Amino acid sequence: MKLKDLQYKFHEVLGTDYGKEEVDSFFFMLIDFYFNVSRIQLAMDSDFQVKDTEKILEALVLLKQQKPIQYIIGETEFYGLTFKVNEHVLIPRPETEELVECVIKQTDNNSTINILDIGTGSGCIAISLAKNLELVKVYALDISEDALVVARRNAELNGVDVTFFKANILNTDVIEDLKFDVIVSNPPYVREKEKLQMKPNVLEHEPHLALFVKDENPLLFYKAITDFAKVNLKEKGKLYFEINEYLGQSMIALLNDNNFKNIELKQDIFKKDRMIKGDKI
Ligand code: GLN
Repeated sequence: MKLKDLQYKFHEVLGTDYGKEEVDSFFFMLIDFYFNVSRIQLAMDSDFQVKDTEKILEALVLLKQQKPIQYIIGETEFYGLTFKVNEHVLIPRPETEELVECVIKQTDNNSTINILDIGTGSGCIAISLAKNLELVKVYALDISEDALVVARRNAELNGVDVTFFKANILNTDVIEDLKFDVIVSNPPYVREKEKLQMKPNVLEHEPHLALFVKDENPLLFYKAITDFAKVNLKEKGKLYFEINEYLGQSMIALLNDNNFKNIELKQDIFKKDRMIKGDKI
């Protein structure tokens, strides 16, 4: 089959569900993944033929069902690294790259420190930190064993050493014998009532366990993690969170009430309140 005809078919099938550019970007990602053909190669040879189209046509059906492209090809890029993903983990988001960037900038690369990532999912935060801060020792936990399988594999693929363990932060008060210089987390923070604004590719395919909290108690995880940090952070240790854009002020209050100092609320590139940091004094 001619690749050009296949591209036409993609637009025909997906044109009502996605924008033109998005369909093209899916198509180019998939021909690169399945046939190792780049967008430029196709532009230079519009008669380019491919034989085994079974896989890419399966992908087309899945895209029609709103399955995220990252789950279809099984990987994505985050902070310049490749991460395997499946339906047990959230697809790493660009705003989380900003959180990682912020931790890296504020961490001294010349000292040996302990970092803990709570609710690690694919391991994207923990692994990017381990890759970019040479002397740190990184620990990461998650409640989901299925997520930990993905995270461990990602650590191996990216050649970093991260200690993963299974734990539920809602009933883990302390971790004996371990104190951290930095605790970082991107816990579930989307309120049930915000579901209405979410697209079907997220809502129907990504793990709700990693996304949603009850409307009545949206800071559930933040409260538990802050309590945990009061015990398990070293003196002058730093606590970093990714947050719900609508809950910036409540997060400042939470950290204040728990005696965290030098609180910084930061916005993401879309000018939404997205990250917060506090120091334990
Ligand atoms: N930013 C993610 C989203 O909007 C949510 C991540 C989270 O709940 N921690 O889909």
